[in-house]
Formats: sequence, C-alpha cells, structure tokens
Amino acid sequence: MVSDEYFQQWQDLIDLLAEFMQVPAALLTHVDENNQLAVMVKNRASTNPYQSNQKFDLRGSETYSEFVIHEQKTLFVANAYEDAAWKDKYDPTLGMINYLGLPVTWPNGDPFGTLCVLDTETHYYSELQLKMMVQLRNIFEAHLDILEQNLELEEVAKTLEFLANTDDLTGIWNRRAFIAQAETELQRTSRHNRTLCLLMFDIDNFKRINDLHGHNTGDEAIKLFTDCIMNSKRAYDIFGRIGGEEFAMILPETDLSSARALAERMRERVEQLNLPLVSGENVTFTVSIGLTEYGKEDEGIFALLYRADRKLYEAKHQGKNCVVA
Ligand code: GH3
Ligand code: MG
Ligand code: MG
Repeated sequence: MVSDEYFQQWQDLIDLLAEFMQVPAALLTHVDENNQLAVMVKNRASTNPYQSNQKFDLRGSETYSEFVIHEQKTLFVANAYEDAAWKDKYDPTLGMINYLGLPVTWPNGDPFGTLCVLDTETHYYSELQLKMMVQLRNIFEAHLDILEQNLELEEVAKTLEFLANTDDLTGIWNRRAFIAQAETELQRTSRHNRTLCLLMFDIDNFKRINDLHGHNTGDEAIKLFTDCIMNSKRAYDIFGRIGGEEFAMILPETDLSSARALAERMRERVEQLNLPLVSGENVTFTVSIGLTEYGKEDEGIFALLYRADRKLYEAKHQGKNCVVA
C-alpha cells in the first residue's frame, strides 16, 4: 500500500512535466491492490480535466493508461478522432484526443502505473521532450526500488512491535505492553478527573493442573481462561498477561461497585469453564480477583498494581474463587 504522502513529493515534477511537454494534462497513475487505476498526481493547472484520486476499473475502463498497463509498452495516440481504435473511448470524451504514456513498473516487473501527458489537439513531441519523459519515468522506477525496501522495513518493524507487545501463548498484551497502556489510561483518568479500576487475576491451584495433567494442559487452561475473559470484557477494557497464570485488567470510566459486578461476572464464567481432555476427563478451575479503584493520591500504575495484589492475596486467604476489593 503506497501512501498518499508518497505521491505528494512528485507534485512539482508533474507540474513541470506538463509545462515542459506543453500539454494541459500530465498524470502519474497507479494500480492499487483492488485493480483500480487511480490518478495519483495530476498537474495543478485548471486545464487538466482529471480529478485527483479519480479511479477507473482496470478491466474495461477503456482509458489510454489501461492499455499501457496491459501491454506494458509506450502508447502514442496523435489524434484519437482519426484513430478508429480510440475515437469513442473514455479519454476523448474529456476532450483528450492526444496521448503519450509510458508504463511505470515495480522493481519485480509488476505494473505500478503510468506516466502520461494528454492534449486536446494533435501534438507531436520533440526528441528532447521524449527523452526527458523517459528519464523522469526512470527516476520514478529507481525511487520505487527504495520505496519497496522501505515498505518491507515498515512491515518488519510492525511485526517486531507486535511480537514485542504480545504474549506468545495467548495473543493478548504482555506485561510490558499492558503496563504501558495502563499508564496512559491512568494519566487520562487523572487529567479528566474520571474513575478507573484495576483487576488482578490469579488462577486458583494452577500448579495442580500442571501436576495432574501436564504442562500442555496447563497451557490450554491458560488459553481457555484468556478467551473467556476476552469475551466477557468490554471493548475498551485493557487485558494483559502479566505473569504465568496472572493477569490484569484496566476498567476505564468504571467505579468500584460497577467493577465489582463485572469482576464477579467474570469469576462466575471462569467457574463454568470446562476443558475436555482426550482421556475423557474434564479440567475445571476457578480464579481469584483483587480489585482496586484509582485515587487522586495514586502516582502511577504500580501503586494500583500493588494494592490490587494485596487484595488478591486476601482473596486467596478467604478461600479463593472470590473477588476482594
Ligand atoms: P494459588 O491458588 O495460590 O494461586 O496456587 P497456584 O498453584 O496457582 O499458585 P502458584 O503461583 O504457586 O503456581 C503457579 C504455577 O503456574 C507455577 C507455574 O509452574 C505455572 N505456570 C506459570 N506459567 C505457566 C505457563 O505458561 N504454562 C503452564 N502450563 N504453567 C505455568
Ligand atoms: Mg500465581
Ligand atoms: Mg495461581
């Protein structure tokens, strides 16, 4: 996907091209992923009848540029009115009876689009004008090589960022990403004098699942738990895995009593989960939840994490499978 900003940088050159070729219209067109041929850059003169971002279906648009892209070769039409193949096609209906267009291709040979000039009257171009246009096309193509490398680098960077923020086993935020987002949310809460709650979850007697059924089953239980909570939370609640079988959730815009009700509902849902094993057995488990509300005196997320952890500890001491605030 090539960004609109990328094309902006060619605006002045396309303006210059139109002047140098002495035509009312010069265009850089591009074929997008959906096989749409779009006018990405047009010279800014009012004589240019094409619209920026004007799109044509690449099959059947019957434009000059569609032909150039399909044939992957230069097209020159001196006067469409005198050319049976072109006289009834799209561009002449805009008055553009004269066309010179070059294919622009990606480094791997795929079509990128066209660089073309159009006129309302018969127009023959000088040797020098032709040479300049070919040179300009070559510069575009050389630049596409760099663009492609940059796009690949962006992809790699995105993948790395995703991996750095995502927990391998469950696909939810990892500790680092959770804390970063929780901190941002907390600052927003503090700035706007809003409420916010933090939940801390710890699966009860998890070691027993591992010991009785093996580590893989333990992993499956963690995934089942995660899916359950993801399906129970609201879209804007932030849920992350902060340790082995420990999780945390930020509930923005939520006071203590609403948070308690939400936590209680999640606890009940976990209690009803059932992980069937090939042996025919069923693994069930419960979760303890510590809950705390943001207060003006809280300096940062770690103050809340600490308090929620104390509440979680109390929940364990009260016999587990409960919510303590
Ligand atoms: P409690 O009710 O007090 O929380 O008891 P517990 O057994 O859940 O507590 P504890 O924290 O002592 O044990 C957690 C266990 O979770 C220990 C660890 O081996 C296991 N564990 C941590 N991460 C993973 C994981 O990714 N997969 C699996 N299968 N087990 C894990
Ligand atoms: Mg634990
Ligand atoms: Mg535990």
